Amino acid sequence: MDIEGFRREAHAIVDWMADYLRDVGRERVVPLTEPGRTARALPPAPPAEAEGFGAIRADFDRLIFPGMTHWAHPGFFAYFPANHSPPSILAEMMIAAMGANCMSWQTSPAATELEQVVMDWLRQMVGLPAEFKGVIQDYASTSTLVAMITARDRHRDQLDRSVVYLSTEAHSSVAKGARLAGFRPDLVRLVPTDERYALSPAALREMIAADRAAGLVPAVIAATLGTTSSTGLDPVGELADIAAAEGCWLHVDAAFAGAAAIVPKLRWIMAGTERADSIVINPHKWLLVNHDCSAYFVRDPDALTRSMSTAPAYLRTRFDDTVVNYRDWGIPLGRRFRALKLWFVIRSYGVTGLQAMIREHVRLGGRFAEWVAADPDFELAAPAPVGLVCFRWKPAGRDLSGEALDRANQSLHERINAAGDLFLSHTVLGGRYTIRLALGHLSTDEALVRRVWERVRESAVGLPS
Ligand SMILES: *Cc1c(COP(=O)(O)O)cnc(C)c1O
Repeated sequence: MDIEGFRREAHAIVDWMADYLRDVGRERVVPLTEPGRTARALPPAPPAEAEGFGAIRADFDRLIFPGMTHWAHPGFFAYFPANHSPPSILAEMMIAAMGANCMSWQTSPAATELEQVVMDWLRQMVGLPAEFKGVIQDYASTSTLVAMITARDRHRDQLDRSVVYLSTEAHSSVAKGARLAGFRPDLVRLVPTDERYALSPAALREMIAADRAAGLVPAVIAATLGTTSSTGLDPVGELADIAAAEGCWLHVDAAFAGAAAIVPKLRWIMAGTERADSIVINPHKWLLVNHDCSAYFVRDPDALTRSMSTAPAYLRTRFDDTVVNYRDWGIPLGRRFRALKLWFVIRSYGVTGLQAMIREHVRLGGRFAEWVAADPDFELAAPAPVGLVCFRWKPAGRDLSGEALDRANQSLHERINAAGDLFLSHTVLGGRYTIRLALGHLSTDEALVRRVWERVRESAVGLPS
């Protein structure tokens, strides 16, 4: 492809992108396909000869697009959002065009300094103190792994006796990160939660006392703000007291809900994080930035770089004492220019624009939760502080056992998704099948949320079946 061919195709693709963003709501959210169908339609061996881009594009339309799940669909209410936005997409295009590797200052000076500046903007937006320094990692799983490795290095001489505590509701990446960092799997402890699915400090204190009595060393407390199942909020302030008394590393996984802290009225959810050692918030979930973009903040960057730094001779420069080399702040050497999309997004919407989006999602989640709570045939399965609503069908005056009720909720869930225009996911809370409505799409409005609620109620007619 020569430059003029690229120009032509790129214009066509930009038109495709704008049409896609305008019309994606007409597609099914989840495709009608089955395992193996896409792979079977593709040649098993690579083409020996060059192919024209027209043929490749046509095969994309014919073979690939029909097998895509549309996260950008306005009816996508599953998991957590991975919302994005036109300015972020434009940044991705420019990042791709430059193809820069932003591993060190010298390899991309402006990218490094822009990352320092936008991460400090984000720090201010979520209300963290100035001593926290930020770096962009790819995913929250990586940020948490980096936290576990840094914490491990603090406890290196007692690693075989070091204990990691997280709640039963913590994301799977937290226990995985602890194991990958070298903590003993049998010393990764799951602490019970309370009725709001928040880690119970009393249970943690008991576990720590028992571990101390057995000669073990409490090393890491990993708190979650916004658990994956139900956005439970661990009491980080109390956990910080325990971490300080026990000499533990305190990591806070606020991958989804941390974004809410940019709204002054929701800032309370971050209370206590100012005493943490490390915090992760994903702008690629709820701040309109395409993934990947995971914001990792640390109180002690020196501890981080001691664990991560490599300074091979061929990468050393005379600036190293005066600049930041982000290759020493994470696991991979190579780094994409992710700061550009954060910069485009924060400037395009302004802090007030981003706050307005989050406020609206939280308001709409609150409305939906009110409708659920007011309906005698439904119940809220957990509090809904940040726009995620967990609910169940539970008909008044009918005697349905736990398992029959689970089966009914599973069929309700299938009926809600059946038409293909809406997609909600589920979880298990307190041992019971629970349907989740996760808000986060930029275009979500009250009429659409009302339509979801109407679909839920219509779908419950005739249950159980
Ligand atoms: C989404 C999520 C993760 C995982 O995030 P990735 O960026 O996909 O690794 C971890 N923890 C919580 C609380 C999450 O919501």
